[in-house]
Amino acid sequence: MAPDPFVVVGGDAAGLSAASKFVRERSDSRDVVVLERGSWVSYAHCGTPYYVKGEVDSLLDLTTLSPDDVAERGIDLRRGHEVTALAPDHDAVRVAGPDGAFDQPFSDLLVATGATATDGPFDLSPAGAFTLHGMDDAAALRALVTPPGEPLEDGDLPDAVDRARAERYADDPVPDAVAVVGGGYVGVEMAEAFAARGAAVHLFQRPDHLVPSFGPAAAAVLADALADAGVHLHLGGEVTAVRSAGGRVTGVAHDGGSDDPTPLPVDAVLVGVGIEPAAGVAAEGGVALGDSGAVAVDRYGRTSRPNVYAAGDCAEARHVVTGDPTWVPLGLTANRAGRAVGATVAGDHTPTGGVAGTAAVKAFDAEAGRTGLVGEEAAREAGFEPVTETVRAGSRSGYYPGAAETTVTLTADAPTGRLLGGSVAGTDRAAIRIDTVATALEAGLTVAELERADLAYAPPFSPVWDPVLVAAKVLHGRL
Ligand SMILES: Cc1cc2nc3c(=O)[nH]c(=O)nc-3n(C[C@H](O)[C@H](O)[C@H](O)COP(=O)(O)OP(=O)(O)OC[C@H]3O[C@@H](n4cnc5c(N)ncnc54)[C@H](O)[C@@H]3O)c2cc1C
Repeated sequence: MAPDPFVVVGGDAAGLSAASKFVRERSDSRDVVVLERGSWVSYAHCGTPYYVKGEVDSLLDLTTLSPDDVAERGIDLRRGHEVTALAPDHDAVRVAGPDGAFDQPFSDLLVATGATATDGPFDLSPAGAFTLHGMDDAAALRALVTPPGEPLEDGDLPDAVDRARAERYADDPVPDAVAVVGGGYVGVEMAEAFAARGAAVHLFQRPDHLVPSFGPAAAAVLADALADAGVHLHLGGEVTAVRSAGGRVTGVAHDGGSDDPTPLPVDAVLVGVGIEPAAGVAAEGGVALGDSGAVAVDRYGRTSRPNVYAAGDCAEARHVVTGDPTWVPLGLTANRAGRAVGATVAGDHTPTGGVAGTAAVKAFDAEAGRTGLVGEEAAREAGFEPVTETVRAGSRSGYYPGAAETTVTLTADAPTGRLLGGSVAGTDRAAIRIDTVATALEAGLTVAELERADLAYAPPFSPVWDPVLVAAKVLHGRL
């Protein structure tokens, strides 16, 4: 009898990374079965705002592997199969498939079920109300911003699209006004997308600055870029309700924030108020969750149940700076953890790696990156004695065309001098400079050590003192 397969739940970043690595590395005759409840596999959530904006032509451009590519790798991919339960006392999952329910036994199981977007307190059932978490949301949003009669894409829509949902918006005019609720990275990227499509955009953010985890200095750079492009920013402004009539969004009610408290008429609303780990099936199957609500895992992605692993947006990971379990749902984290679990299940024990929450976002020509513990509040909560400095320095030699102001914030622990985190923002290749800081965090460098780093200098790329080095120099002086 064939041994039970390695079963993976979820056919995107973490799940397919694991399955692909497993088939390359396996030293036994086990199969790998990937159960995906949707139609899409191997897709990039991260590119969906740019598809809505029109910078990406086709949804298929956002996929890495087609179902046929996956099958060619020797992976038994079953789309339209939802795992509804994890048997509490034996190694099998309950699956609802197109031909009914069945039990799928496993030798090892990877839970890679991702996350779900939260609706907040809002009723998002009327036409014109959206979250953005998946390819079908992206298709519907692109239909919303495409003038009636124009095709959504050059050529046919991919088979996997929820066509009925997208076609709901096919004959509607492009919205005149849109409310974006939430100023995290999805809200910022979508504000740009709607504005580029010609809509008047109102972006509401309950805290007093955008992208809170990037800190106020980086957020201000993004806010200026959005305001310059005509986006109405309501910082400190809370949307209290989505208004609708006749099954369509007609406006939002908001508490005013820094602006006029009257209800605002809009034709559509995009709610980006956060996501939650999709850990329900695992938890009901007796798998322990961490404080964050995501699945608790060890450094190999193993959960509290033998032979059950978790990776990606549904799982915690160890923070590079604090060493504590944390939940940072990001793309590289998911791909890397999935790949490591695939290797481990195949027999090559591979740690999933730590996370520093390194992330980047753009708003028109401004961009920002962040990593580690940004700002003093987060660092103090983690038990450090933080000191923070923000500097503004040139991105290239001042005489070289294209030089632009770059804002760098670095935070360090005063007693040890250890670097804890930072952000970089500006208009000239600023976001990617955060990788220098992220690498320093991974290596556990002090600010003095970062200041001595041998970074590249040539006028078209950087001044003699790279902006990150300038910030390290100033912070070191303060320490
Ligand atoms: C709009 C947007 C923009 C983003 N931009 C960035 C970015 O710029 N940079 C970055 O690092 N990250 C970004 N992310 C986050 C990144 O996309 C995720 O971290 C990554 O996709 C997580 O991969 P995953 O495999 O864990 O989960 P997912 O990609 O969500 O995949 C999980 C899969 O599991 C399936 N599934 C769930 N439950 C079941 C079940 N019970 N049975 C069967 N199948 C199931 C789902 O259908 C889904 O296909 C963005 C996310 C969004 C939504």
